[in-house]
Amino acid sequence: MTNGTTFIPFSKIIGQDKAVQFLKQVMAGEKLPHAYLFVGIQGIGKTTTALALTRAINCREPVTEEGCGRCPSCRQVMSGNFPDLEQIGPEGNRIKIDQIRQLSRAFGFKPVSGKYRVSIIQSADRMTEEAANAFLKTLEEPPEGNILILNVKEPLGLLETIVSRCQKVPFRPIPVDLIADWLKGKKQLDDEEALLLAKISEGSLGRAFNMSEGDFLERRQDYLFKLIKLPELSSDQALTMILEVTEKNKKKALDPSGDDGILGMLSVWKAWYRDLLLMNISGPEKLLLNIDFSHKLKTIAKNCNIENIMKSFQVLDVAQRDLLRMRNLDLVMENAVLTLRGLTREKPVQNRRQHTPDE
Ligand SMILES: [Zn+2]
Repeated sequence: MTNGTTFIPFSKIIGQDKAVQFLKQVMAGEKLPHAYLFVGIQGIGKTTTALALTRAINCREPVTEEGCGRCPSCRQVMSGNFPDLEQIGPEGNRIKIDQIRQLSRAFGFKPVSGKYRVSIIQSADRMTEEAANAFLKTLEEPPEGNILILNVKEPLGLLETIVSRCQKVPFRPIPVDLIADWLKGKKQLDDEEALLLAKISEGSLGRAFNMSEGDFLERRQDYLFKLIKLPELSSDQALTMILEVTEKNKKKALDPSGDDGILGMLSVWKAWYRDLLLMNISGPEKLLLNIDFSHKLKTIAKNCNIENIMKSFQVLDVAQRDLLRMRNLDLVMENAVLTLRGLTREKPVQNRRQHTPDE
């Protein structure tokens, strides 16, 4: 989490009123469920909410439903020193059985704080099969005083038997205006920049924050110019272009957490095709993400057909998935770029340019 170091109580969590309200209701019930499935895209407040819940259920003087903020337990949670909080996530690309075994071993002991031990499992859908089976056993009969919070983007990758044992809590993309306001307050951005970032973050405060740091906007512009130029390149030129990009990004090419590297570029390109589709079907302009390219998008959309836009989007989506499965970076990207190039060049006959020599 980008802002994981700052503790945020229930009342200050942005744009997740429903999830927070639901958790408060659950807390008011007779028995606290022991397992939760927090579902939603990254950077949307799942971990923040898990920490807020940890404080609320462990407060020693729970005068409010979010914890007093003054007792030792509250203070430990707020400063990141709560002894009964455990977080695990993928090591490499997967959550391994040893991590699950270690987690369940701790369950045998009573929580130090006296109340609840909270274990947050990030990207819980990335457990290996053995890990998932071992985890299922833990989930079936966890000793009293243990709370498990599973964070996932979507529950599809989880065993159905795991999903059914968890209390599901959906997290929604955060409205654009809330993110824009937050960015303006936090990062002193002007209206236009805040709105652009809020839109292209697609409802993720964490992404918007990451993108507001460093040179993301410049890189994004560069990626978009490359994509716009693609139909004019020969296939050799297209390959050279993509090799340069992958070479530059080798180190953090596959950082799945942010908008860095190749995965970040693929997200930028996907957002572009999403916008092209919107313009192609004459959708409402206020739904555009790349508002600073609206003119260009409209012009290009006129010369595209809907099937090719959708195919292009899929090409990028498949490339992202392949990269996360650790397929060969250069091969995946070469293939994706050549396919995209082919698709972008397929235009209505009357608009076709002169053939380039390499065709
Ligand atoms: Zn307290």
